[in-house]
Amino acid sequence: MDLEKEMKKHTVSERSIKNNNLSDKKILKKILIVGGVAGGATTAARLRRMDENCSITIFERGKYVSFANCGLPYYIGGTIKHRGSLLVQTARGFKNRFNIDARTQSDVFRINREKKYIEVKDLKTDKIYPEEYDYLVLSTGALPVRPPLPGIDSEKIFTLRDVPDSDRIKEYIDNNSLTNAVIIGGGFIGLEMAENLHDRGLSVSIVEMENQVLAPLDFEMASIVHRHLREKNVKLYLNNKVTGFKNEGSKINVVLENKEVLPADMVILSIGVKPDSKLAAEAGLNTGINNSIKINKYLQTSDVSIFALGDVAENTILGRQAPVYLAGPANKQGRIAADNIACLINGVKKLKEYKGAIGTGIAKVFNLTSASTGFSEKYCKKENISSISSITHSGSHAGYYPGAANISIKLIFSGNNGKVLGAQAVGNDGVDKRIDIIASVIKMKGTIYDLAEIEHAYAPPFSSAKDPVNIAGYVAENILTDKVKIISWKELQESDPAETLLLDVRTTGEYESGTIKNAHNIPVDEFRNRMSEINELTEITREKNKKIVVFCRIGLRAYLAYRILVQNGFENVFNLSGGYLTFSTALSI
Ligand code: FAD
Repeated sequence: MDLEKEMKKHTVSERSIKNNNLSDKKILKKILIVGGVAGGATTAARLRRMDENCSITIFERGKYVSFANCGLPYYIGGTIKHRGSLLVQTARGFKNRFNIDARTQSDVFRINREKKYIEVKDLKTDKIYPEEYDYLVLSTGALPVRPPLPGIDSEKIFTLRDVPDSDRIKEYIDNNSLTNAVIIGGGFIGLEMAENLHDRGLSVSIVEMENQVLAPLDFEMASIVHRHLREKNVKLYLNNKVTGFKNEGSKINVVLENKEVLPADMVILSIGVKPDSKLAAEAGLNTGINNSIKINKYLQTSDVSIFALGDVAENTILGRQAPVYLAGPANKQGRIAADNIACLINGVKKLKEYKGAIGTGIAKVFNLTSASTGFSEKYCKKENISSISSITHSGSHAGYYPGAANISIKLIFSGNNGKVLGAQAVGNDGVDKRIDIIASVIKMKGTIYDLAEIEHAYAPPFSSAKDPVNIAGYVAENILTDKVKIISWKELQESDPAETLLLDVRTTGEYESGTIKNAHNIPVDEFRNRMSEINELTEITREKNKKIVVFCRIGLRAYLAYRILVQNGFENVFNLSGGYLTFSTALSI
């Protein structure tokens, strides 16, 4: 095909319109968008609102534009009943409402940067044609990772990325009598699928090569999720790698590194995604972390006429380069890219800056909600970022109003100035609100002192006069201002028992129902009257400067005990962060 000839058909004549308000012809600027879902669709719609005259075309490889990928697990599980409600916008809707030409089943397979055109294959007719652009937007997303393991091509192995994927999974479940599924990968899609397959009556196992699910969480926070999954009869195979698959009769055998074999009716492979950047890389655009497309703060690639955004573009978390595969940042970038293109085509010089993400994510895991934002403690350790972490447990609302549930919050902050670096929250109710408040404080570069002062809407059904976010701030403030020293469950586990005196300050009943090995029980309410006993117990610790570790269920009573001890001259005292609840959950006691 003579592309140059083809190009002529698509150039000025097609790009000129008779504008009723203008006497002469106006040359249209032509904006092409590759990828028509989260980032691409947002860019297109916003751009039209900013500029009524430019020509906007979306090319989408799949059959659908602007569908709700985040809703797919719930459609499979049956919570979302109607398939149509996943289709947020259609090609016809784009035309009618926005005058946008959305071409589905259209694969863009090459970019000619020099002559500023792309090559498209119409997947319905196999016809190949060029399309020229003034500005090109790449929002090509990410592809599920499919490692070349033996047996990986079995028709019983599914990945989930788009509507046809969810159709395949749903039809397979609807049309076969299945009893069990193995999910490989304990990320948020894996866990959402676990819940939804469980809702469809399948017994579910999760295989995860790390020692925990939900990588953005630290281990002890993920342990709350582990416990809940086990309560729901989900089998967890942690620290386990899959080495291959084998079809056997109606089953598929999942083979683990430790040689264990898990027979299953179906397998969901959700071990992560990789940026779909082949098109960009072949066009010579610079790529970075995980082969994502490098962009500047205006979302332009190494070619300033080409923008990139969403899962395919390199992002930052708190200023550090990181992949961010989340719908929120993709949508926000879409708006900025559209505004910048509108500026450029209208001769406005000042462009909008994308300030980067903080990586705020949330997942429903059966009755639990798990959410995180910013850096984790393990990331800080790996990257040598100096930080302190503390764990608090508080009620989602006033305890005397029915239905209050525990929210566990882990706060990660700078020991120098109290700047909040990250947070994790897990609980049955109100987790979203708390993580969003902390994420906002992080975004505004706030500190733990800001968290302590956050003013929230309070009435008993919604919160307490001191919100869990305030409590997390108070505890962090106590640590930073030397009102309390804390020890983590891990530090305690690793410390020498001979060098540590453990004081369980809960009631005798609580102590008897389970405590930490070698702990002495002196309930906090008896503390002041039993000082001589404490003196005796601690005499030897004073001489040898041993650690005294006080603990209760969540850390509050132990804080009181701590304050009594230090004001009575005891030194080297520590409060167990998150109390026995965190310790026992992390160690599955
Ligand atoms: P996408 O929305 O994936 O769109 C990219 C599109 O580009 C694809 O449709 C693809 O077909 C098309 N394309 C690629 N290459 C070409 C080409 N060469 N030519 C033409 N078309 C092309 N995020 C959250 O924040 N919260 C959630 O709860 C959540 N749940 C999710 C659940 C599932 C099952 C999945 C799969 C994702 C979920 N995500 C969630 C992630 C979120 O959907 C993505 O981060 C977001 O869609 C990224 O937007 P994007 O525009 O970069 O890519």
